[in-house]
Amino acid sequence: MIVLAPGGRFHSHSGFIPHDQLIGALDGASIKASNGSRYDVTRPSLSDRVVLMPRGAQVIYPKDLSAILMAADIYQGARVLEAGVGSGALSMALLRAGADVVGYEIRPDFASRAAANVADFIGADAHYEIRLNDIYEGIDERDLDRVLLDLPEPWRVVPHAQAALRPGGILLSYLPTINQVATLHEALNHSSFGIAETFEVLWRTWHIDGASVRPDHRMVAHTGFITHARLLHDTSPS
Ligand code: SAH
Repeated sequence: MIVLAPGGRFHSHSGFIPHDQLIGALDGASIKASNGSRYDVTRPSLSDRVVLMPRGAQVIYPKDLSAILMAADIYQGARVLEAGVGSGALSMALLRAGADVVGYEIRPDFASRAAANVADFIGADAHYEIRLNDIYEGIDERDLDRVLLDLPEPWRVVPHAQAALRPGGILLSYLPTINQVATLHEALNHSSFGIAETFEVLWRTWHIDGASVRPDHRMVAHTGFITHARLLHDTSPS
């Protein structure tokens, strides 16, 4: 991923390309480098950005981001609280889908990095606010539509999310180990959340070349587990 500048040159093992050849060209240009090799040039997609952008904390990868948008049922204008913000990859996916996002983050350096990444990709007018808050201490907002967590001890947030979400709201948590998932479910079982589900996304790409059609030899075997649940309330007469 490069930023074009007049007079600049992109160098690689297969020769160089003057930036001026790309400035003003259509997205998707196919151009020849100095040694004759061909380069296909496109503007970075959100998925490219997330994988290639500068990061402080580990980002959530595109395969999981896409599943999170559906599992958390993100929509235009949804009021979402996200913690921790990290490098802002999940924030970018949520904002792209039209949500209004408040992010809690305890590390000021990560908060600045995320704010810069979001401003760069979504724009300075994004519906996005980062607060330097520890979410284990509580959630100030009320009537939220969704609470999304990517931090080590989400079970500590369950009571806060229960108070902050509107009825029917969704709590979603992204966790690297299944032990953490089990502890989270234990907390959910003792809360007003229900319809809980945990899943993972196995993304297997394929090699397709003439008669050779088979799965690629390598895949990312594990990233994280996604758990989601809904805030219920008992309306039966006592
Ligand atoms: N989802 C992010 C990555 C989050 S990494 C992305 O896609 O880019 C986890 C983040 O949680 C770290 O930045 C860490 O500082 C933050 N964090 C950990 N505990 C926290 C807490 N109690 N409150 C708020 N943020 C917390």
